[in-house]
Amino acid sequence: MEDCIFCKIVAGDIPSEKIYVDDKVSAFYDINPAAPVHVLIVPNTHIPMVNSLTEDHAELAGHMILVAKQIAGEEGIQESGYRLIINNGAHGGQEVFHLHLHLLGGQRMRHPMG
Ligand code: AMP
Ligand code: ZN
Repeated sequence: MEDCIFCKIVAGDIPSEKIYVDDKVSAFYDINPAAPVHVLIVPNTHIPMVNSLTEDHAELAGHMILVAKQIAGEEGIQESGYRLIINNGAHGGQEVFHLHLHLLGGQRMRHPMG
């Protein structure tokens, strides 16, 4: 999709250090990290948000979580723990409208329900 920053990263049109790529998803470091480890896992195809998901995406959605777990291992935070976040829409604080799973760790995260 034109003018989508994460589509451009997936396509290689914007330089980024991808730390994981397969036929379904790509992962790269967040440009403005909120924790010592902050990775974004995105589908390779343009899906705007969780609201856009259908039953057809069930395997992809599960795969995103499993890739996050694998990257947590590679980043050395699987045992210390980590947080996975998907923001959806305005009240969720979503800023980039290409679905992405945040993997955050390397420090104890504050409780998110405040
Ligand atoms: P969200 O608020 O869930 O939409 O999160 C969007 C995230 O994308 C933010 O944490 C940004 O720091 C991150 N981000 C925006 N542009 C880039 C970029 N070019 N490369 C890496 N991360 C980015
Ligand atoms: Zn996109």
